[in-house]
Amino acid sequence: MRIGFGTDFHRLKKGRKLYLGGVEIPFEKGSLGHSDGDVVLHSLTDAILGSISKGDIGDHFKDSDPKWKDKRSEIFLKYSLKFLKEENYKIENVDITLILEKPKLFNYKEQIRKNLSLLLGIDEKCVSFKAKTKEGVGAIGKGDALECYAVVLVSQVKQIIIEKTKRRK
Ligand code: ZN
Repeated sequence: MRIGFGTDFHRLKKGRKLYLGGVEIPFEKGSLGHSDGDVVLHSLTDAILGSISKGDIGDHFKDSDPKWKDKRSEIFLKYSLKFLKEENYKIENVDITLILEKPKLFNYKEQIRKNLSLLLGIDEKCVSFKAKTKEGVGAIGKGDALECYAVVLVSQVKQIIIEKTKRRK
C-alpha cells in the first residue's frame, strides 16, 4: 500500500464559474485558474500522482500551455488514474477537506461525493468529502480564495491472483 497527499489553492473571482469535484456550484464567484480551477480535482490528482511518485499536476499539464486553457479538470484526474493503472495500483479510499467561506456546501456535499466516486470508479463508501471554513480569517475567510487537501490510499493489484480466480470461474 502507498499513500498520496495533494493540496491546491485558487483565488476566487467574480464572473468565473465555480467547479468543485467536477460539480458546478451556483455562486457569484469562481476559481481563477488556467483550467476550470477545480481545487478538489486538482488536489486529488496531485494526491494520486504523489502516491506513485509521478510528480505533480503542473509537471504533466503546463499552465502556460493553451491546450489546457479553461479545460475541465476531469481530464487531469483521468490522466492520473491511467498512470495508476499502468503502475498496477488501485485506489482504496480518498479523504478530502475543502476550505472555503462561501457558498455553504451543505446541499452539494453528497452530489460532489457521488460524482467523485463515479470519476474514480470506486464505491461511495470509499470517498470522504468534508468542507470547513476559516471563521472569517485571512484570504479564505474573506471569501477571496479557497483551498483543498486530499489524501489517497492505493494498493497494488495482485494480477496473478486475479488471473487464477478468473480461470476458476
Ligand atoms: Zn489548481
